[in-house]
Amino acid sequence: MGGTRVVDLSGIQVVDNHCHPLERFDAPLDRRRWHSLFTESDYEVRGEHVTRDMVYLRRLTRRLAGHLGCAADEEQLLTERAARGHAAMTSDLFADAGIGGLVVDLGFPDPSVGLPMETLVPDGRYCALLRLEPLFQRLVAEHAMLEELLAIVDAELADLRGAGFGGVKSVAGYRTGLEIRPWGREEVELSFAQARAEVARTGAVRLGHKPLLDTLLLRALAKASEQELPVQFHVGYGDRDVDLRLANPLHLRHVLEAPELAGAKIVLLHGCWPYWREGAFLASVYPNTYLDISFGIPFLGRAELAATTAGALAVAPFSKVMYSSDGARVPEIFWLSAHDGRELIGSALDAMVSSGELGLDEAEKVGYRVLAGNAAEVYGLKG
Ligand SMILES: [Zn+2]
Repeated sequence: MGGTRVVDLSGIQVVDNHCHPLERFDAPLDRRRWHSLFTESDYEVRGEHVTRDMVYLRRLTRRLAGHLGCAADEEQLLTERAARGHAAMTSDLFADAGIGGLVVDLGFPDPSVGLPMETLVPDGRYCALLRLEPLFQRLVAEHAMLEELLAIVDAELADLRGAGFGGVKSVAGYRTGLEIRPWGREEVELSFAQARAEVARTGAVRLGHKPLLDTLLLRALAKASEQELPVQFHVGYGDRDVDLRLANPLHLRHVLEAPELAGAKIVLLHGCWPYWREGAFLASVYPNTYLDISFGIPFLGRAELAATTAGALAVAPFSKVMYSSDGARVPEIFWLSAHDGRELIGSALDAMVSSGELGLDEAEKVGYRVLAGNAAEVYGLKG
């Protein structure tokens, strides 16, 4: 068939602008552990196996079985996986996925138990992000005076590049919400006293103290802005404890408008799902705002991923949308996402070509930018 040429993104090495360390997993994974990797719920921990009834895991099973040349059956898949070993699976799946760059949030899982991610991509194509909340929690536990804490936060973040980080990441979206704003001195003092009381009681603190967390975040964002570094925000879907009502990106208005933060590049993660229209709108009106589409997490079926992708590209400038997997712990999420991302971004662009909105060459250039070029620029990757 001499059919019409379609948008072909298969040769593009993706830059995964939002992912996490891979674990080592020296022992083979059993079924329950395997399922628990593909849900944000406690169902699997509680022995209620709903993950196997979600289309994400069915898709992964079928596609991975095809790649490994075994039957699309979980037991066989896990046996095959165990026989190959985790490290060999990782290099095979990374090579097959065509991953040419990684931006890694070192906040989860603990990178000290993980594989060295920088060895998985060419030199200069790796960027580590500092997760802010664990740093704040440690510093709150170490400092009894608020003034001292604020000064030490500024000092810790004064030279992020020098400390080996290409940006920062906040998970306030699933703690106290995205309406991050300045608070009065008394409110911050009270919030700090409550956090310190938690330290005194338990030896540590989980920062759910909004006036204090907002204050520390705004200091950190000002530092990132001075250094013109990217700041990733977890937006929308996330851990079970997210209050999805507070994880709507429209709550970020103060952060997006504050002149002292204008130097930071704000990256809205997870396609803001289910708020992707809101996220795409923000990327279209705020010059320093970018929209990440994570093809791995949320764990969605292709129909929803396709809608998010097409919708985002229909609203946000092409220069502001970036591909990611949000992969963590196992290479399968990185792998499946790279294939899904290329295919679904390709289909969305194909539709734009068919409807006469874009020329074919133009569409392929857009595909490259979304899969790799924009992130390489935003995170300053080489090559
Ligand atoms: Zn993530």
